[in-house]
Amino acid sequence: MRSSKTYQLKTADINKFFDVLKEKYAIYAPVRIPSGGRYAGQDSILYKEIERYEDIEFRERSTYAMKEVITPITQTLFYFTDDEFRESKLEETRDLLIFGRACDINAVKIQDQIYCENGGITDPFYQRRREKVKFALMECPEEFDGCFCCSVGSNVTDMHSLAFSFGEEGAYIEVKDESFDDYFTGCEEADYEITFPMENKLKVDFPVIESLDMANKLKEHPMWEEFDARCIACGACTVACSTCTCFETTDIIYTQNGKAGERRRTCSSCMVDGFDRMAGGACFRHKISEKYRYKILHKVYGHDARFHTGPMCVGCGRCSARCPQLIGYPETLNKLSRAIEEIKQEEEVCHA
Ligand code: SF4
Ligand code: SF4
Repeated sequence: MRSSKTYQLKTADINKFFDVLKEKYAIYAPVRIPSGGRYAGQDSILYKEIERYEDIEFRERSTYAMKEVITPITQTLFYFTDDEFRESKLEETRDLLIFGRACDINAVKIQDQIYCENGGITDPFYQRRREKVKFALMECPEEFDGCFCCSVGSNVTDMHSLAFSFGEEGAYIEVKDESFDDYFTGCEEADYEITFPMENKLKVDFPVIESLDMANKLKEHPMWEEFDARCIACGACTVACSTCTCFETTDIIYTQNGKAGERRRTCSSCMVDGFDRMAGGACFRHKISEKYRYKILHKVYGHDARFHTGPMCVGCGRCSARCPQLIGYPETLNKLSRAIEEIKQEEEVCHA
């Protein structure tokens, strides 16, 4: 990509831009759903296809993550009869332009690893949709409660094609991807630079687990026990998480023709009962504290042990915001860091 150009457009002009853009792209962005939240009268902010600039909720963090546009909560992978099958087709033939913050876009990098670089196998259902995606960065002039993107290095990205600095009457739009240049022919360039957050109020001491031996010692640490009483294993934290990818597959047999059906992939969670059930009925993690420990150690250690790219977390803060039990993920991380220090000190004493 060449060096970017920035323009200032009023709302009406952005809507004209969107009208032309929609011929090639389905545009997705966070949208406010009045009274759509968990409690009576509470709104939620969900990713939806938008028509106009005014549809975009840019003042607050979305309740759920951008991942739902690329990997819907439920999707049909293929249809089958008793002796043949065919893959589902993409319903949307246009490309996708998705609005997201730097952390949201960095989360897609992690999802790309899990779906496309895991053991040399690429998930074709993810890849075919991902290939059609471009990103419009949403500038974060203010941070949201519980964000800690700077502690995990997800505050900056260059994966976007456009960047928007939002205002009530229009926006500054940075154009990085030259395939969008034609849309701005005749517009005057503006003197504005899109910025990234460089410091959060919340600072998290993200734990570093240097060896499998340390990970195994942490599994035995008493810090997890409190979660048997506190966590209700609802999975809300993982469903809202920008980077979690757990899913289950289900065969739906059509009732009118018992030999035909479809296989669906549906979002799931390592926190819910039955997720780890194997053929024969065996499960590995029975206690809630074991499920929670697995989730945390996977984000801190397991993902990095496989991909060597650091935390499986972008510090978006959605997990803590969604937890009905008010369990703070950053506090768990800080406790884990303290447990690592404790184990190291015990080891030093033993070796002294
Ligand atoms: S673990 Fe929490 S803070 Fe990290 S990416 Fe997931 S939802 Fe965001
Ligand atoms: S949202 Fe909270 S209570 Fe529910 S599984 Fe996650 S940590 Fe446990």
